[in-house]
Amino acid sequence: MALAYIALGSNLQGPEVQIRTALDALDALPGGAVLRRSSLYRSRAIGPAGQPDYINAVALLETRLAPRPLLQALQSRERQQGRQAGPIWGPRTLDLDILLYDALSMQEEDLQIPHPGLAVRNFVLLPLQEITPDLCVPGLGAVRELVAACPPNPIERLAPEPPPLR
Ligand code: AMP
Repeated sequence: MALAYIALGSNLQGPEVQIRTALDALDALPGGAVLRRSSLYRSRAIGPAGQPDYINAVALLETRLAPRPLLQALQSRERQQGRQAGPIWGPRTLDLDILLYDALSMQEEDLQIPHPGLAVRNFVLLPLQEITPDLCVPGLGAVRELVAACPPNPIERLAPEPPPLR
């Protein structure tokens, strides 16, 4: 089994529901389970102006999938939730990225781990720190220090939803 951290983001078509649906789908992937899920965060979109805010989260996934099959499973989930090809940094119903995969470091054209944007995105670092405060990111250092050094971008942690009435 490997441990992978997955970043989730959405800013179209009911982003909170998109993220909750995707978290459940990650948990249902064959040969694994979601061990921890962060709160949801709302962040200002980077990229083309005029986009809705994003909802973001990070999950810790235990998985038997190797990195490339895992990427394929994530891309399949993005398509199932209506992701369409669009401009880089454009709005999307669902974006799933592999942040970390054990202590693996790989630099290939279609898959870089750790994810190259990790250290400059507070909407990734804050939920990552929430679920694993003592995390050491391979090649980059302590998540606490990465948070302290990260460029600011407006972000708020959303209050957890109350449990459904019985
Ligand atoms: P995005 O627009 O963020 O969904 O980027 C998608 C592209 O990033 C895909 O073509 C992936 O092959 C590539 N990619 C490279 N490294 C990663 C990673 N660690 N996790 C997810 N996608 C990645």
